[in-house]
This record gives sequence, C-alpha cells and structure tokens, in this order.
Amino acid sequence: MAIIEIEGVTKAYPARKGGSPVTAVDDVSLSIEAGEIVGVVGYSGAGKSTLVRLVNALEPATSGTIRVDGTEVTGLGERGLQKVRLGIGMIFQQFNLMHSRTVYGNVAFPLVVAGLSRQERHERIVELLTFVGLAEKAHAWPEQLSGGQKQRVAIARALATNPSILLADEATSALDPETTVEVLDLLRRVNDELGITIVVITHEMEVVKSIADRVVVMEQGRIVEEGPAFDIFARP
Ligand code: ADP
Ligand code: ADP
Repeated sequence: MAIIEIEGVTKAYPARKGGSPVTAVDDVSLSIEAGEIVGVVGYSGAGKSTLVRLVNALEPATSGTIRVDGTEVTGLGERGLQKVRLGIGMIFQQFNLMHSRTVYGNVAFPLVVAGLSRQERHERIVELLTFVGLAEKAHAWPEQLSGGQKQRVAIARALATNPSILLADEATSALDPETTVEVLDLLRRVNDELGITIVVITHEMEVVKSIADRVVVMEQGRIVEEGPAFDIFARP
C-alpha cells in the first residue's frame, strides 16, 4: 500500500520583493510504499524541502493532491491536519532541540502535547532513549552532547508519538562522516525494527547510496530521475 501518494502537485510562491514568482515544486507525482526508505536528492533550491513541507501539511499545495496514510491532506481543516502531522516525525540538519530542556524534557515534549500522563510519558521516554542508545544521557543538556548524540535525541523525540513516517531533511549534513554512519545505522533500525517508512532528503549522494531502497532526483521543482539507488548511481 502506498503510504504517501503525491499526484500532480505544484507549489508556486508569489514573487518576493523585486523578484519573480517561483514554482518550487512543479507537477510532481510520487508514490511511496509503506516500509520503504526513499532518498530525495538534488542541489540546493531543487524543491526538496518544499515537497517535504507539503507532505507534512505545513503548507498548502497550489494544485494537485497529496494522500498520507489514505487521508487526503489537501482541503483538511486544522484538526485534520494536526492528526496527519502526528503520524509524521521530522528531523532536521540543525537538530532543533530545545536548549532550555534536558534530553528527557526534549523527548517528553511531544508526549506532553499528546496528553499522556506523567507515568505513561516516563515509560515511553525511557523506552525511546534506550532505543537510540542514550538512556544514560537523560539528564544531560543538549549543549553537552555531540552532534550525533543530538540527532539521536531528535530521532527519539520524532518517534515519541509512534509516527508511521519519518521525514529526514538534511539530517546528516551537519555531521562528520563517522557520525553520519552512526545516524544512518540508527535510521536503518527505525525502518527494520519499527517498520517506519523513511524519506531522506539530502544533497549528499553517499548518504542515499548507503541507505535508500529507491532514489528520486529533483531538479528545478521536477523529478528528473527515479529508480533503485543502484541503477541511478550506475548511470553515466
Ligand atoms: P531545496 O530544499 O531543494 O534546497 P527548496 O524547496 O528550499 O529547495 O526551494 C525551492 C525553491 O523555492 C527555491 O528557489 C527557493 O528559493 C524557493 N522558496 C522556498 N521557500 C520559499 C518561500 N517561502 N517563499 C518564496 N520562495 C521560496
Ligand atoms: P514535565 O515535562 O511536565 O515537567 P516530566 O515528567 O516530563 O514533567 O519531567 C520533569 C523533569 O523530571 C524532566 O525534565 C526530567 O529532567 C526529570 N526526570 C523525571 N524522571 C526522570 C528520569 N527517570 N530520568 C531522567 N529525568 C527524569
């Protein structure tokens, strides 16, 4: 079953002052199966982040339809959108941790929002931090952690509410090669052991080569190539 279905989606931004309008995503169709790891690659400005924001329902598409887990996102009200967003975890290049909270507090945050009791929260947080290998860092502050550890906390937080999809937007771009491998290994476990569908957006070809089942190449808002990672990178 396709867990994400993008059909003929276009996103146009109005002209910025002194500029011209931008078609950030241009008539894109893409279907992602449950359990896949899909890499979306392309240079800066290709439209990768915009595509992710559309899937996560952070912005409305100009035209076309997007279905997430069978629900058509286009045309949903705020309540429906909240529900879709709960089913999607996100991680970012700069980790986006809250610096005024401990590791524990960061992972607790989405669970507080979801209305879990203190006891339920505690069990879930311990489980998540154990899964990402950071149980002993519960009391640490984000600035006391390495980049790889910060991203692992961000992954724990993203998984807190049991999403079926994880969107990784340049999640390894701020990390050195060794730490990148460590984070990619964790993402593989998220996919294997938890069955979560993962979309990896990156400009780093090595990253998709090592992790993605399938690769989509974007250029100027369009998908210009799509196929198994092996085939795409074997092409001259
Ligand atoms: P990528 O993630 O591949 O770097 P983006 O999706 O960020 O690409 O950007 C695609 C295009 O859309 C770029 O030309 C960018 O300048 C433009 N763009 C992105 N967000 C906005 C916005 N909020 N307003 C206007 N233009 C935008
Ligand atoms: P709230 O988020 O409502 O303040 P929490 O139960 O999420 O309440 O946690 C409060 C604080 O207690 C957290 O910031 C955390 O540092 C600390 N804490 C509670 N239990 C633990 C634990 N087992 N391991 C680490 N920290 C804990």
